[in-house]
Amino acid sequence: MRIGILGGGQLGRMIALAAIPLGARVTFLDPAPDAPMSHIAKQICGAYDDERALEQLAREADVVTYEFENVPVASAQFISQFTKIFPPPDALRVSQDRVVEKSFFNTLEIPTPKFARIDSLNDLENAVDEIGLPALLKTRTLGYDGKGQALISTRADAERAWSEMQSAELVLEQFVNFTREVSILAARGQNGECVYYPLVENFHRDGILRLSLAPFLDTGLQNLAQTYAQRVLDALNYVGVLAIEFFQVGDELLANEMAPRVHNSGHWTIEGAVTSQFENHARAILGLPLGSTQTRGYSVMVNFIGALPDVDALLQIPDAHVHLYDKTPRAGRKLGHVTMVAKDDKTREKRLETGDWRFSL
Ligand code: AMP
Repeated sequence: MRIGILGGGQLGRMIALAAIPLGARVTFLDPAPDAPMSHIAKQICGAYDDERALEQLAREADVVTYEFENVPVASAQFISQFTKIFPPPDALRVSQDRVVEKSFFNTLEIPTPKFARIDSLNDLENAVDEIGLPALLKTRTLGYDGKGQALISTRADAERAWSEMQSAELVLEQFVNFTREVSILAARGQNGECVYYPLVENFHRDGILRLSLAPFLDTGLQNLAQTYAQRVLDALNYVGVLAIEFFQVGDELLANEMAPRVHNSGHWTIEGAVTSQFENHARAILGLPLGSTQTRGYSVMVNFIGALPDVDALLQIPDAHVHLYDKTPRAGRKLGHVTMVAKDDKTREKRLETGDWRFSL
């Protein structure tokens, strides 16, 4: 079984680390010679739209997947001439544009924050009237980790943001005063079988995920999130792991965005669930049965962003598992994470109070 991965970052690295015990060989395509996967799998060094490199990857793999959602849709379709590619390229198309994505959610009767496509200052002024303030002006494409976003609290802000961002395609979104942010991770196999992980509670700063707590136990919200995820999975005839991020407002969930791939808010599953998101992704794309998503305890996952903390000290905490991605430190860059799995909620609370878990917040 040979897996090809578009992208050689930490997500691809963790897919490979889960797929190799299943007997898979992994090749990946990434233009950066020092990509986090470069020491653990075979690399094809090339651009994501280089047809020769894409064909080589496809010919060396029984199935191709991707580890970031900005893979050009045309490249995913090109690969599908030669070999299977999962998740389907259509999932990429939907998730690459916030307007298409939110419209897709709404078509499936999955609620989202109010939004409007913005093509002119006039559109922006009308949208501010309709949606109200505060609101967020975001780029429709290529936005991640809070990049390409401006908070608009006044009409003057709107004009300023328009003059700074007008060269990009834009969307205005209602600013949601959420109760909390949660995400669901789901996996769908080639036979349509679906499994769901418990909801995760996520804490962001500057638009970047810092800390996740799992499971977030709420039967009503869990059922709602699973229902919404199932609609997305079935509509796309999806294969692999999918993540959807929601804003919880009371007993409602508003979908913020989806990621057609393994997700940072699922890193806790490596030690905190019977089968990790990475293994379930590998199983799904290889056509194997999916594994149990049962939790093994109460997990907290903290990202190392920009700089590494005192790793030796973290490793002295019982049940702490450190993952380093072999990346050069740079401001805002995800360099690694730690997951601690406690036997119960109280122990996790205690560790959160005593350990230096908030170093990243
Ligand atoms: P995004 O790039 O859309 O995932 O946004 C990154 C983070 O910014 C989210 O996880 C939220 O913390 C915050 N954010 C994004 N959109 C909104 C919104 N419409 N209302 C409130 N907060 C938001």
